[in-house]
Amino acid sequence: MKTLNKELQSSITPRKALDLLKEGNNRFINNLKAHRDLLEQVNDTRDGQWPFATILSCIDSRTSAELIFDQGLGDIFSVRIAGNIVNTDILGSMEFACKVAGSKLIVVLGHTKCGAIKGACDHVEMGNLTELLSKIQPAVYQEKTTLENRNASNSTFVENVAEINVKRNVKNIIERSFVLEQLIESGQIGIVGAIHNIDTGQVNFYDDVTFINDEENKNFSLKNLNY
Ligand SMILES: [Zn+2]
Repeated sequence: MKTLNKELQSSITPRKALDLLKEGNNRFINNLKAHRDLLEQVNDTRDGQWPFATILSCIDSRTSAELIFDQGLGDIFSVRIAGNIVNTDILGSMEFACKVAGSKLIVVLGHTKCGAIKGACDHVEMGNLTELLSKIQPAVYQEKTTLENRNASNSTFVENVAEINVKRNVKNIIERSFVLEQLIESGQIGIVGAIHNIDTGQVNFYDDVTFINDEENKNFSLKNLNY
């Protein structure tokens, strides 16, 4: 697997970036890891980095973006925080990754059986965690299909909240970052939400929160974002 350089990065479109991640996850779940000499990649990246994607995922030890998408050094920016939530510092990191460092796709990646989502479902309060979980609470309230057992013991409820949380955070990024919104509108970058199933390793991308302004997407409009 070749280490990315400036030329390679600029040849990758947002849709190609999405395909590269899908292919990488496919390799991961089929145990067909691409051959990489990581030490050689240390040398290849010593003078700079040209990652093609920026992935916001959870701190969960089972969800390392580099591993589940089978990526090497210099391939992706990895932003990790419990419950894959968004705050100002994370938006700033993403603006750097896309506007300054040229990354082509933002992925908001949730996962099944997420402890942070479960904590929010149970309205857990503890130290600084209380404030973090409060950022997931809107997704808990937005889940309207579960009428009974609206708590962490109900896995259907938990997974519904995880999905809503991903989609809300795609919307959050677009609404709260003028820099990223402009890049998405102009087709320079794309944004997509996805969920990682920790039972299988498989990542499923949500079509209804895939915003890539290119020829393949005739109906592109950020107004289609209803979360
Ligand atoms: Zn988690």
